Amino acid sequence: MTSGKINVTVENIFPLIKKFLYSDHEIFLRELISNATDATLKLKHLTTIGETNVEYGNPIIEVKIDKENKKLHIIDQGLGMTKDEVEKYINQVAFSGAEEFLEKYKDSAKDTGIIGHFGLGFYSAFMVADKVEIFTKSFKDEPAAHWTCDGSPEYTLEACDKTERGTEIVLHIAEDSLDFLEDYKIRELLVKYNKFMPVPIKFGTHEEGEGEDKVEVDTIINNPNPAWTKQPSDLSDEDYKNFYRELYPTQFEDPLFNIHLNVDYPFNLTGILYFPKLSADLQMQKDKIQLYQNQVFVTDNVEGIVPDFLTMLKGVIDSPDIPLNVSRSYLQADGNVKKISNYITRKVADKLKSLFNENREDFESKWNDIKIVLEYGMLSEEKFYEKAGAFMLYPTVDDKFYTLEELKEATKDNQTDKDGNLVILYASNKDAQHSYIAAAKDKGYQVLLLDSPIVSHLIQKLESDNEKMTFVRVDSDHINNLIKKEDTEISKLSEDEQKSLQEIVENIVPKDKYTVKLEALDSTAEPFIITQPEFMRRMKEMSQSGGGGMFGMGNFPEMYNLVVNTNSPLATNIIGNTDETTRTESIKQAMDLAKLSQGLLKGEELTAFVKRNFNNLK
Ligand code: ADP
Ligand code: MG
Repeated sequence: MTSGKINVTVENIFPLIKKFLYSDHEIFLRELISNATDATLKLKHLTTIGETNVEYGNPIIEVKIDKENKKLHIIDQGLGMTKDEVEKYINQVAFSGAEEFLEKYKDSAKDTGIIGHFGLGFYSAFMVADKVEIFTKSFKDEPAAHWTCDGSPEYTLEACDKTERGTEIVLHIAEDSLDFLEDYKIRELLVKYNKFMPVPIKFGTHEEGEGEDKVEVDTIINNPNPAWTKQPSDLSDEDYKNFYRELYPTQFEDPLFNIHLNVDYPFNLTGILYFPKLSADLQMQKDKIQLYQNQVFVTDNVEGIVPDFLTMLKGVIDSPDIPLNVSRSYLQADGNVKKISNYITRKVADKLKSLFNENREDFESKWNDIKIVLEYGMLSEEKFYEKAGAFMLYPTVDDKFYTLEELKEATKDNQTDKDGNLVILYASNKDAQHSYIAAAKDKGYQVLLLDSPIVSHLIQKLESDNEKMTFVRVDSDHINNLIKKEDTEISKLSEDEQKSLQEIVENIVPKDKYTVKLEALDSTAEPFIITQPEFMRRMKEMSQSGGGGMFGMGNFPEMYNLVVNTNSPLATNIIGNTDETTRTESIKQAMDLAKLSQGLLKGEELTAFVKRNFNNLK
C-alpha cells in the first residue's frame, strides 16, 4: 500500500482557470482593474497610517489599447511589487494577496474597500490573452521587475528599468478575443463594471472648450464617489435624483422616492433603492437593481438577495458579505443573505411608514404607482404584511383613501349585516360596474376601488386575518342583498306561481351558465339582474392571477346568477301570458338587457339584439 498527498499544482489547475473559472470572459477587465484599485488603496492606507512617506498624490488608473500590436495595457500608480512579491503573489496561484493584506492590517484596513479575495483574479487575464506581461515598480526602494508568461506554467522574471511607481499589466490579446481591442467594447465593459469604482479610470482623451480655448483632457470613465457611499445627511433630493439618472441614463422619468440603506452590523451593506413609477406594462424591468461589491459591479440579478416583491424597484446594493460565484440555491441557504433580505424588507416598510406619516397627501398621490409592489409584498412576506397595516391604503371610487382601521370605522354603522359582519364593498372597474356603484352610493355605502390583478388574493388574506369582515364586489348580488340587514322579503306571487315562473325561465336560459334565483325585490327594481357570486368570481380570479398555479388552483368555470324579481310587472306578465312565442321573446329580451348591463352581451348576440330592437321600432 502506498499513501501520499494529492499534488495540486499550477500545471493542473491552469487549464481549468482558463476554461471554467468564469463563464464570462469579459470579467478579466473587472479583475485587473480591481487589482489596480486595490494596489492604489493599499498605498493610500500605508501612507495614511504612516508606514511609508512616499507622496500619494492623485493616482489614476489608465486603460490603453494598442491595436497595431494587439495589446491592452492596464496601468496603475499603486504600491507596485518587488521581484520577491511577484514571485510570491503572482506565481503562487490561488494565494490571495488581498486576503493577506487584510489579515496583516486587520484592524486598520477594515474600511479600505479592498476588493480581491479569490486569489485567482489576475489569471483571468489568460482567458483573453495568450501572453501576459507585468512591469512593476514597488513604492519600496527596490528595482523594478518584469514578469512574462505565455499561458504555460513557465514564466520569466527579471529586473527592468521602469521608473514610475506602480504596475503596468500588458495583455497580448489572443486571436479569438480581438474584440477586446475595440474602443467601444472596452468602454462598454468599463461602464458596466467600473462606473463607480473608487479610483479614477482614464480611457482616452477628449476635447473640451471652444476655438482658442480648446484643450485635450483625459476621459475619466467613472464616478469614484457614488451617492450610496455618502451619508444620507449629506445628500439632497436632487442628489438622489441625479444619481438615479447616472445609474440609468436612459430613464427619463424621475423616481417616486428613495430608500438609503446603510448597515455595518451584523453584515455590511450600503445602497440606495428607488421606487420607480411603475408603468402598467412592466417592460421597464430591463433597468434592474444592481449588485456591487466595494463599488465593483457584480450582477443585476439580485434574486434571492432582495425579496421578490422588491425586485420591481431600482437602484444599487453594495455588500462585501454576499458570497459570489456560488450557485443560487446556495445563496438562498446562506444565513447572511437571508438577513440581508429581511433587513431590506424592514427598511422599505419603515420608509413607507415615515412617508405616510410625514406627508399623507403626497403618499396618497403616489399610491397608484406603488400599490402593486405593496400588495405583492403583503402576500409574499409575512414580516412586511405585519408592518403594512400602518401605511396600506384602500382607496374608494371617489379617491378617498382609508387605512384598514379607518375603513372599519367609516363603515361600521351603515355596512354591518344582520349577523354583525362588516361588509366591505368594492369595485374593480368604475365604468363596467357603474350602475352597481351608483346603487351602492345611493344607499350611502362606501365603495372601494380595488383594481390590481392580485387583489383577490389580498382580500382573501385580509378576510382570514380580520374576523367578521367580508369583501363583496358591488356586482356580485343585488344591492338589497349585498348587505342584508334583515329578512323582509315578501313576494307578490304565490308559491305555485313562483314555481311555474322558475320553470318557464329555466327552460329558456342556458342552465350550464346561469342559476335562476327568484327574489322578492322592490317592484321598481330591474326584473332580471345578472350577478356573479363573490366566491365563484374570486376563485376564478385567483386561479388566473396565480401565475402558473402559484396558489394551486385549477380552472374555474364562468358561473352567474340570474336574479328574477318576483315583484316586477314583468314577472306577473310572464305568468299571465299563455302565448308561448311572445312569452319566450320577452324573456329573451329581458335576458339580453340584463346581459347588456353587465357587459356580457357581445359579438353575434349583440348584433342580433341591436337589429331586433331596431326592427321593433315603430
Ligand atoms: P486577489 O486580488 O484576490 O488577491 P489576484 O489574483 O487578483 O488575487 O491577485 C493576486 C495578487 O497579486 C494580489 O493580491 C496582489 O498582491 C498582486 N497584484 C495583482 N495585481 C497587482 C497590481 N496591479 N499591483 C500590485 N499588486 C498586484
Ligand atoms: Mg484580484
